[in-house]
Amino acid sequence: MNTKLFYRRNIQLNRCPNCNEIATLRRSRSRNITEKILKRLKYAPYVCRNCGWRGKIFSYRFAKNFFQLLIIYTIIVVVAVYIVKKFLASYFN
Ligand SMILES: [Zn+2]
Repeated sequence: MNTKLFYRRNIQLNRCPNCNEIATLRRSRSRNITEKILKRLKYAPYVCRNCGWRGKIFSYRFAKNFFQLLIIYTIIVVVAVYIVKKFLASYFN
């Protein structure tokens, strides 16, 4: 399964939420253990070179059609399980 279908890189990452300047954000060093854990979860701290804003931004966001894809994959799995179950039941009886 291609998991890249479910999320996209956050385009807003390049724009500072405080001063709205483009391409002024850079990764900030994690200051404590909580930030280190969050960084692993792609919720990394960033700092703005223009206005000095510091905060955390999700590096990824869900794809627009995330729920559609989730429903489609769920249906496929359910149908596949049903077919396999039917096949096994008829094969062993
Ligand atoms: Zn800024």
